[in-house]
Amino acid sequence: MESVSIISEHSSDIAKRWVQKSELADIYDKVMAERRLSRDDGLRLFQSNDLLALGFLANLVRERFHGEKTYWVYNQHINYSNVCVNGCRFCAFSRRQGEEGGFVLTVEKVVNKVRERLDEPIREIHVVGGCHPDLPFSYYLDLVREIKKIRPEAVVKAFTAVEVAHLAQNEGVTTSEVLQALGEAGVEALPGGGAEVFSNRVRQLLCPEKLNSDGWLQVAKEAHLMGMRSNATLLYGHLETAAERVDHMLALREAQDETGGFITFIPLAFQTANTGISGVEPRTGFTDLKTIAVSRLLLDNFAHIKAYWIMLGVKMAQIALHFGADDLDGTVMEERIGHMAGAQSAEALTPDELQGLIRAAGRQPVERDTFFKQVVRSTKSPSIPLYERGKILK
Ligand code: SF4
Repeated sequence: MESVSIISEHSSDIAKRWVQKSELADIYDKVMAERRLSRDDGLRLFQSNDLLALGFLANLVRERFHGEKTYWVYNQHINYSNVCVNGCRFCAFSRRQGEEGGFVLTVEKVVNKVRERLDEPIREIHVVGGCHPDLPFSYYLDLVREIKKIRPEAVVKAFTAVEVAHLAQNEGVTTSEVLQALGEAGVEALPGGGAEVFSNRVRQLLCPEKLNSDGWLQVAKEAHLMGMRSNATLLYGHLETAAERVDHMLALREAQDETGGFITFIPLAFQTANTGISGVEPRTGFTDLKTIAVSRLLLDNFAHIKAYWIMLGVKMAQIALHFGADDLDGTVMEERIGHMAGAQSAEALTPDELQGLIRAAGRQPVERDTFFKQVVRSTKSPSIPLYERGKILK
């Protein structure tokens, strides 16, 4: 073991000297001094093709925050409906009302999906859908209440800022009122979807009908101010420029300075199949790793950066654990949004598979809940459903 650590220290020393001589040397100095990076730094990081130097810098911050720890969650995804009024061009998941392939799950059906997995130690239920034109607000409240009734120990992370704004519009109430009612029903956190890219140019091309950037940020901040936490995403790898990615991250950094309510930043790799966007070059591994690394470096007030294996693919997500990411998301099960757009990953991973991937990357797996509280079980095999014996560290 000693020889391994000597080799690793030696390699790290070589990497440090490499970065100090590279075009990113001044950014290395800032990272070491824990100084905030500027917009210009973000642009230079994206422009640089010195991927290993970039990874080294991002990894410094990642290890400063978390050491070798790499998080995963035992979760279940539920898509209650794909019927949506918005018609975003990059979306392969949604259908217009009445269109073939559209679906709405009854509350009873959703409850059955949760019930079917009651013997598993699930910690988080992630619920998202389209912006349905006329599902009543009571449907959403019942959905959450029923899930909480049969799975009280799991955090219900439900409805993106886009869905919240849509519900408010349908009901003729404010987004704060919707959040308040959802919170009372049992929603504890919002997923980060719907942020896409906060560029008016890109939104006009891709999703002009969708809640705009200011609206998205406003709902997130309102949720934070009433004690809910939320995630934030960036959809990259389509029509956006590197500058638009940087500006997106900086808008989130500013919002986080205000509220501190974001849990994780999730760069979402665009999937090209079955969407209304043509002529987009397939994403490269460079783009994936750069986007993860730059986000780790710019978002100094976000504790966590997620390598979402569903969109990145398992192998790239594993490598990302050395380019700034500290979280792999979770077991997922029955993923529809990425897979309808052509994601080639599996639809679920077992806890053993997730932990094996993390260990094979030389990192230490840590099971977490939605808020990154560590889940500790009294068994060596967390894949055995022993929820009753689990407890969450405060
Ligand atoms: S991305 Fe969301 S809002 Fe846009 S069409 Fe798809 S489901 Fe609807």
